[in-house]
Amino acid sequence: MKLSDVFMKELQECLNENQDRIRTASQLCNNAVSIQKARQKRLGYLVRYDISLREGAPSHEFNRFGDYKYDVSNIQKHIFLKKEFYKNGNCVYKYNEDNTLFMYVENLKAEAVDGSELINCPNCGAPTTLEAIRNGCSYCGTHFEMSEIYPVVTNYFTKFDVSMVEDRKNMNNPIGILKTYGKAYAKFAKLLTSAPSAASMVAQGGLTSKKRFEEIMQQYIPDFSYLHFGDMAIDMLKLLLFSDNPSSLPFVAKDNCMVVAPNLIDFEFIGFGLDNKDVVVNGKYVIANVYIYVKSLYDTQNGVVKVQENFRATMSRDISKPVKMGFSYTKINCPSCGGVFDAYKTKSCPYCSTVFKLQDEEWFVLDISRG
Ligand SMILES: [Zn+2]
Ligand SMILES: [Zn+2]
Repeated sequence: MKLSDVFMKELQECLNENQDRIRTASQLCNNAVSIQKARQKRLGYLVRYDISLREGAPSHEFNRFGDYKYDVSNIQKHIFLKKEFYKNGNCVYKYNEDNTLFMYVENLKAEAVDGSELINCPNCGAPTTLEAIRNGCSYCGTHFEMSEIYPVVTNYFTKFDVSMVEDRKNMNNPIGILKTYGKAYAKFAKLLTSAPSAASMVAQGGLTSKKRFEEIMQQYIPDFSYLHFGDMAIDMLKLLLFSDNPSSLPFVAKDNCMVVAPNLIDFEFIGFGLDNKDVVVNGKYVIANVYIYVKSLYDTQNGVVKVQENFRATMSRDISKPVKMGFSYTKINCPSCGGVFDAYKTKSCPYCSTVFKLQDEEWFVLDISRG
């Protein structure tokens, strides 16, 4: 079975809580799934997911990026996504749509491997090295060979498949849409008329194309890759929006970061927006206001409500640091003692107490707000 097929199955099992972890996914990806499930639980929801492949719609791979050691590819699978939200035993919201499942799959180039590569144990998540885990994880004792760890899914998101609507030539025909998608879509279409559509957001300078986004950022970070950034930023966004204590996240450089959407239970990523005027340099740091367009589901007194909205994340990075493929704060080497630890669990090194600062390594978040 192909990695993407196994991942799809495991994702469904994990979202439905029949399985603790997604073995084929990175620790970061697992954290994002757990934090969303915890939010849904806190608000009294039980969500049932059904992810199935759409017949006659093959998956395809596109857009690869990487460096001498890592290789990341984007894989798309055409799926039928069913979600049922239950509260107090009643189904209060149903989602039933053609979707595209986007996956970022990271691989290690065999010829560049020396054993010192940092990994998270696929079984328990403990941080360690590729060499050490061959002799057994020091936490759970499981042995893994490199071929059992890589390739790994580092991130995923699902998107409503607009092309299916176009295919069915019902785009401008409300009755056709109704016939195709039923009442749920009619409600959604109504929301879309009050909020800008993806196409009109592009026209208004909202959504930014991959090419333009890269052009702007490469003025500051020459090896900037949109895909690499997207992989990381979408993951950060999931953790930021579903965390009930965002200041505790290792990439948040603010002690009193607000919970920006406490009643958010699900969201669908649409795209990023960035303009030249949104980017400034302050000392060795580049600071960018990135707009993130999403379709959100909220728990309200009147039930589950779907809205299209955008968040503004103020993000920053040390421009003197080269882009680090394969980097994740769930597996870092302490700069002082060399110990390996997971900065998602503890911000200071458990061996020598040195405080870990993501600001010295990678992109971090200064603030997040609506609009
Ligand atoms: Zn383990
Ligand atoms: Zn240390």
